Amino acid sequence: MALIVQKYGGSSVADAECIERVAWRIAESYTEGHDMVVVLSAQGDTTDDLIAKANEINEKPSKREMDMLLSTGEQMSVALMAMALEKIGLPVVSLTGWQIGMQTDDNYGSAKIKKVTASRIKTELDRRRIVLVAGFQGVNRYDDITTLGRGGSDTTAVAIAANLNADVCQIFTDVDGVYTSDPRKIQGAHKLDEITYDEMLELASLGAQVLHNRAVEMAKLYAVKLEVLSSFEKKSGTEVKEVTKVEQTKISGVAKDADIARIAIVGVKNEPGIAYKIFRLLAREDINVDIILQSIGRGHELSETKDISFTVARADMDRARELLEENKQSLGYSEISVTDKVAKVSIVGAGMMAASGIAATMFEALYEAKVNIAMISTSEIKVSVLVDESEADRAVQAIHAKFF
Ligand code: ADP
Ligand code: ASP
Ligand code: MG
Repeated sequence: MALIVQKYGGSSVADAECIERVAWRIAESYTEGHDMVVVLSAQGDTTDDLIAKANEINEKPSKREMDMLLSTGEQMSVALMAMALEKIGLPVVSLTGWQIGMQTDDNYGSAKIKKVTASRIKTELDRRRIVLVAGFQGVNRYDDITTLGRGGSDTTAVAIAANLNADVCQIFTDVDGVYTSDPRKIQGAHKLDEITYDEMLELASLGAQVLHNRAVEMAKLYAVKLEVLSSFEKKSGTEVKEVTKVEQTKISGVAKDADIARIAIVGVKNEPGIAYKIFRLLAREDINVDIILQSIGRGHELSETKDISFTVARADMDRARELLEENKQSLGYSEISVTDKVAKVSIVGAGMMAASGIAATMFEALYEAKVNIAMISTSEIKVSVLVDESEADRAVQAIHAKFF
């Protein structure tokens, strides 16, 4: 018999009917004799609703209190699911992040998992109970509740699977696997039977919401057998693994990330140390910088000034601008311009390493769709471009049609 970790997302447990359906699925695996640990997300739009509720009271609540509030969504789900399983007549216990020893760092709102003790889970499994775990939450060294970042329940599930050395970690969601692009938005997107950890990690980090990027990172690190499946239909999904059988010729997916902003610093001195000063300033405040573009120097004779542009997460935009403005004197630029009306569109594929012309094909698709590229960044297995947000969906569709 196997030890199975399952995770059901928000839409899979949205209402009483959904909860009952999922309860029967859990019951089925349990009665086959498997040990079951099931991680749940908050129901439907609960997390968004809680954020809205908070903002009705305070537009800038502290991150600590936000985590206190948001963690309640998952707690509600596990209690309700436990009641559904009790009704079926099965032994079950629901547990919070704290109760399972999910220890995180102090970074409220996007805490990283440091350690899971999971001793309580083991005891409950030994008693042959179905263990339901509230996803997305942990506890830090001050015994405060933390959350793992939006979509973080996937990471809870993988962390538990890694800790318990589970046979498989199954992520049940509202689509039946990982697709070449968001199947709800992109015509012609098709399901992948398998994908490598590396490609999935890129896709997830570049905006494909289907898996939390840290979940994929952890699955790779601990070689967790990871599957993405539909919670609504019974059919095979996508396996995420180290090596895939399918020969990779082109790309495995196209992703969009609209959660970014671009900051351009115009007219900085063209001298050593400027980039260092700017990015150290941001790093000190934990502001992550993504695509960076530096113009060649300009001005008469010895290229006196240059421009540096970069992207940050949208939530960091205002703080980054403030920091740069506070330090205008020492940085010595002429102006900064900031916009959040941008999006990043990316292609990902391990096959890119061996093939040539992949980027050119992507740019051709954008040219044909008349989408202007503001910035470009590449790595071994991805190419990203920054485009106007209003054109991003069209860009993804055009690129997808070109490759698939
Ligand atoms: P859950 O609540 O189950 O965690 P999410 O909403 O976080 O579900 O993730 C599932 C959604 O991810 C799908 O409904 C789909 O619209 C979106 N998505 C984006 N990119 C992809 C992709 N490449 N493959 C599958 N789904 C994707
Ligand atoms: N409920 C959280 C969210 O909406 C975590 C999750 O669903 O994974 O982001
Ligand atoms: Mg999710």
